[in-house]
Amino acid sequence: MISQTQLTELLHFKPKKGYVLSVYFNANLGEFSPDVQKIEAKKLIQQGFDVLDSRDIDRDEKNEIRAHLEKIQDYLQSVLLTAHSFRGLAIFAGPGFWQVYELPRPLRNAIYLDRTPYIRPLMAVLNHYHRLLVAVVDRREAILYDYYMGELNEIKHIRDDVPGRVRIAGWAGYGEDKIQRHIIDHEQRHFKNVADVLFQFFKAERFEYLVLGTHDAEKNAFEQHLHPWLRERIIGWFAAEPDIKLTPIRRILDEVAAIEKAHRRKQDEEIIREVLEEAHGKRLGVTGLKATLDMLQSGAVQTLVVEEGWKHAGAQCPGCGYLYDEGETCAYCNTPLEPLQDVVDEAVTYAIDAGVFVHHVSPDTVTEAFPHIGALLRFRPAEKDTAAA
Ligand SMILES: [Zn+2]
Repeated sequence: MISQTQLTELLHFKPKKGYVLSVYFNANLGEFSPDVQKIEAKKLIQQGFDVLDSRDIDRDEKNEIRAHLEKIQDYLQSVLLTAHSFRGLAIFAGPGFWQVYELPRPLRNAIYLDRTPYIRPLMAVLNHYHRLLVAVVDRREAILYDYYMGELNEIKHIRDDVPGRVRIAGWAGYGEDKIQRHIIDHEQRHFKNVADVLFQFFKAERFEYLVLGTHDAEKNAFEQHLHPWLRERIIGWFAAEPDIKLTPIRRILDEVAAIEKAHRRKQDEEIIREVLEEAHGKRLGVTGLKATLDMLQSGAVQTLVVEEGWKHAGAQCPGCGYLYDEGETCAYCNTPLEPLQDVVDEAVTYAIDAGVFVHHVSPDTVTEAFPHIGALLRFRPAEKDTAAA
């Protein structure tokens, strides 16, 4: 489970002295067997030692980094021995600092040695997932959950003292309407309390969306108490009770996963529509591999939109590094191009390194009109500024 606290620590980690190792590793068993992974891990750590040898760093610091490399090596060897469901690993090690992220998406193997953690590849993966606050509420209780990357964790159980309808009906000396008012009063206070707690959690833990589980009868009464800002962040409702005997965790997880999936689908469709509209009007959008590569490399891209898992062969200039969908020689420096198995992967890496937001869209949202890749632009460069090849 990746917590906001852990991420905040990483983002702010800047040691006064010493260096930070950032290691990214493709641990996808669907692509590489455990044996291959262990060999790749060894190669990667060796690469780290080579980088270290080539750098002008004082001896004590080098020794500390060496120790960190060995620790990462041991960690990788032990974790890759066992069956694992994560597909990517990100490890950060520095003076008094050690963090591991198990990620649901594969990453390209890489090792960085710098004064601060290298976080772009990690952020690109995390950007893909929404952090949801899930609240299952009835007239007396509420259970709050944190949902992130397919995991659901209880974070708070609220119980308010609300009189039961049966118990109250037995009270002597109370008129029917007075009893009703009494109950409603307590219920309102409970809903308000839950709404306040939700708002606090939402702000403190930086949730992006809210999902609510209630009975239909209580839905409106509860919603009225939510802060308008929070109400706008609701992406779904499902029928549930804050009692895991009546509504098992597994069912909550399924409901929330389905709501998140539907929401993501909507977002994918919206961004594709926006790219197509902007591209059609020759405004701030572009589609297709060649045009997208050119825009990306001229610094014009704000958001790269690419179909998840889509691959395409291409070429790269060994002289200036320019990426091409096809071609023989570089349009900028005339160097003969080298073939690339997958230029899309290179483009995504390029985008991440350039600080461009990458939005992966699910293949089932991709229509014929959208040729697998496109981008939203920050500006549209003059035609002559992009490659003519
Ligand atoms: Zn070139």
